[in-house]
Amino acid sequence: MSYAKGLFCKECGRDYPIEPINVCDFCFGPLEVTYDYESMSNYVSRDKIVKGPHSMWRYSDFLPVDSANAVDINAGFTPLIKSENMGRSLGLENLYFKNDSVNPSFSFKDRVVAVASTKAKEFGFDTLACASTGNLAGSVAAHAARSGMRSFVFIPADLEVGKIVGAAIYGTTLVAVDGSYDDVNRLCSELSDTYNWAFVNINMRPYYSEGSKTLGFEVSEQLGWRAPDNCIVPGASGSLFTKIWKGMNEFATAGLIDAPKTKMFIGQAEGCSPIISAYDAKDFAIRPVKPDTIAKSLAIGNPADGYFALKVIQETNGGGYAVPEQDIADGIKDLAEMEGIFTEPAGGVVIATLKHLARTGQIRPEETTVAFITGNGYKTREVVEHVANPVLIKPTFASFEEAIGVRL
Ligand SMILES: *Cc1c(COP(=O)(O)O)cnc(C)c1O
Ligand SMILES: [Zn+2]
Repeated sequence: MSYAKGLFCKECGRDYPIEPINVCDFCFGPLEVTYDYESMSNYVSRDKIVKGPHSMWRYSDFLPVDSANAVDINAGFTPLIKSENMGRSLGLENLYFKNDSVNPSFSFKDRVVAVASTKAKEFGFDTLACASTGNLAGSVAAHAARSGMRSFVFIPADLEVGKIVGAAIYGTTLVAVDGSYDDVNRLCSELSDTYNWAFVNINMRPYYSEGSKTLGFEVSEQLGWRAPDNCIVPGASGSLFTKIWKGMNEFATAGLIDAPKTKMFIGQAEGCSPIISAYDAKDFAIRPVKPDTIAKSLAIGNPADGYFALKVIQETNGGGYAVPEQDIADGIKDLAEMEGIFTEPAGGVVIATLKHLARTGQIRPEETTVAFITGNGYKTREVVEHVANPVLIKPTFASFEEAIGVRL
């Protein structure tokens, strides 16, 4: 069962029932799920979680769905890896990577889609849909396949081949729109008024976004039931960033960890950094931009949760950084060469932000810092293809020694 009580408007506070709706009728503010935390706190425990499934469904008591209905491709329960080499090079003693690039469809989006598709099933929808910057496409298509739902996936036409194939393979109807993500999103909002479909990040958005909380839960559990001192998170709409913070606070409300004192840091690519621009200008009004970045998964020019992300930065004494475009591929290469993790540009943004924060003293050596690696490099290999430069030899001993020229 679920402890979800209803929805409330994040702007004016009005209450709504649990329905496939996402904006307030009165003020157009976004809706969010509320829970009966008192009953929940009496029921949940560390022990119960530890005995749960090895997936994000171990946290189902904190989600707005009944796990008996779960559309489950085994999202979550991904590794939290302590840094061997990058921490040393940056002077950080307690640096960790949350490797969410190894989810079933190879990005953290499996967490949000797991919740949204389960809720869609509970509401009785037969069709899943989404407006995607790339990773959502694959995850929606995979969950639709698993649940037997039909799916329509809308993407900007200029997406990386790896992400197009990574969605199409599940047998979805893939619609490439000649425009930016923001154009795709606007079109899908219009379609959602007419078609009775579960658009996971539009009419299902209040449920979808709750899935991101499981990253906050999981990292706290993996650190031995405590929140980290610093989180470094990539930002597109800003939803993931705000929900990791919400998740850690819910764990504290339920008595599973101490109240988090975490500083929340958000990274964006310079070519699409409307949240960071507002942060730098100390202005809570986000000015939409036209994205021009290699970090396509973060290319949202008009971020729906930008304002709330700025609030979280303020509340936690955190910060933000706009990564120069030319540093993104270096971030990808550093993580691969130093830690053995191959991420996509969103991860490159996180690593470049981490380096900036360490160098400017915004994160301290002894603090526990978690860098969130949210997507997989195999989907976006074109951004680092120049490293594919093998030494070509003949199949002989002599040819090897001639080319490599080493003998111990
Ligand atoms: C979607 C996405 C994000 C962030 O999404 P939000 O809209 O900010 O919640 C981060 N990393 C990757 C790889 C993504 O696909
Ligand atoms: Zn309202």
